[in-house]
This record gives sequence, C-alpha cells and structure tokens, in this order.
Amino acid sequence: MLTLENIHAGYGATTILQDVSLTVAAGEVVTIVGANGAGKTTTLRTVAGLIAPTAGRITFEGTDITRLSAHDTVDLGITLIPEGRQLFADMTVRENLLMGAYRKAARSAQNETLDHVLTLFPRVKERLGQNAGSLSGGEQQMVAIARGMMSKPKLLMFDEPSLGLAPIIVQQVFDVIDTIVKTGATVLIVEQNVFHTLKAADRGYVLENGEIVLSDSADALLTNDHVRQAYLGI
Ligand code: ATP
Repeated sequence: MLTLENIHAGYGATTILQDVSLTVAAGEVVTIVGANGAGKTTTLRTVAGLIAPTAGRITFEGTDITRLSAHDTVDLGITLIPEGRQLFADMTVRENLLMGAYRKAARSAQNETLDHVLTLFPRVKERLGQNAGSLSGGEQQMVAIARGMMSKPKLLMFDEPSLGLAPIIVQQVFDVIDTIVKTGATVLIVEQNVFHTLKAADRGYVLENGEIVLSDSADALLTNDHVRQAYLGI
C-alpha cells in the first residue's frame, strides 16, 4: 500500500532521513522504533506531505505521492494523528470530530461516520458537547484518534499516541488502536513505548540517526538483542 524508496528529507539544509526505505502492506500494522531525535516524526510528516523529500520516491496504492501536499495526501486516504493531539481546545468535542471529515470522500457521509466512530469510542460520545480543552489527557488522545478516523482513512499514522499518559490510559489507547486494526485498518505507528507497540505490530523498523538499521517481524524484534538492550531496557 505504502512504499518509501531511498528517501532523504530534513529541515532546510539539515538532512535528517538518509536513504530510508520501508513498506506497509494493506491490513498491516508497522512500527518505527527509535530514540528521541532519530527521525520518526520526520518520516511520518514526509509521508503526510508536510515535508518534501530531497531525494527518493513515495508511492501509495501505486500512485507517486512524493511531491503531493498534505491536503492531497488526506484526499487519497492518508491520515496523520500528530504527537501532542493538537485539538481545538475552545471547540466542542463534536466540532473537533467534524473537522476531521474534511476529506472529499468523508464529507458527504460525516453523520454516519460520526455514529460509527462513536461506537468505537463510548467515552468520547459522553463528552460530545464539552470543550476539548477541558478533557483529561487520555480523553484528548481518544478524541484525536477519533478525529483521525472521521476522514475514513485507508492508512492511519500515529505519532506517539501514548506520550504523557498514565500507564492505565496507555493500555486504553492501545486497546482502541487494536479495535481499529481489527476493522481492517492499515497502521504505521511511532512510539516511545516500544514493548506495547511491538506487541501490537506485525513488523517493525529500527531507525537510528535517520537511517533504517534493522527491520524484521515484531516478534523477532522483541527478542533481538540490540532492540532489547537499546529500547526495552533488558
Ligand atoms: P522524538 O521521539 O523526540 O519526537 P523523532 O525520532 O520523532 O524523535 P524527529 O522529531 O523526527 O525525531 O526529529 C529528528 C531531528 O530533526 C531532531 O534532531 C530534531 O531536532 C530535528 N527537527 C525536528 N523538527 C525540526 C524543525 N522544524 N526544524 C529543524 N530541525 C528539526
């Protein structure tokens, strides 16, 4: 579904991603593991069209999207749920969710999609009329995920969905991601919580200093010596 071939990308004159190649097949859950600053967020932002690569090629369902804008990638069905949630604090939960349905294919069906999404997020349903800024961190993360679902994405990319959340809430976030995966979604996820993420994923890539140094099944990465020492603290 998604293919990155030899991607180089960064900010201004600073190159962060060096020759990054990866694939995500339809229905797969793929994770990118790496330390702070390794370039995980940069990878997701590059796929989403927020950063233009300086070299390499990105294709989605066979279409070359290397030079597409963020708006166009959303229209094709790629949704990024950003780190830090980025909700509109002074708008209600309902208004925040409807903002997620701006993709052309999603707009006409937004009421049905809202009903469907709310069945996956009962807690969000209870808070529809409340301002997003008044929710707890965990509830805000659920709203951010639900908003991402409102665009009826084919590929959902999560950037650090458990960041700053208490352990019990982290489990709830992963439960929700698991539910979404069971609906047949394709997921690319970046997380500090490497153990949880590898448990949820089919495959993973290890990114160090902007380069992919290892890729394998999630099960194999969980028992890989380097991954255990560097990322699982074992
Ligand atoms: P983290 O888990 O800390 O978010 P990450 O692996 O997602 O790490 P990135 O956010 O992709 O890392 O950052 C990779 C590098 O790019 C870092 O050295 C960071 O300082 C740099 N960087 C990120 N955003 C910008 C920016 N807007 N301008 C310049 N450099 C940036």
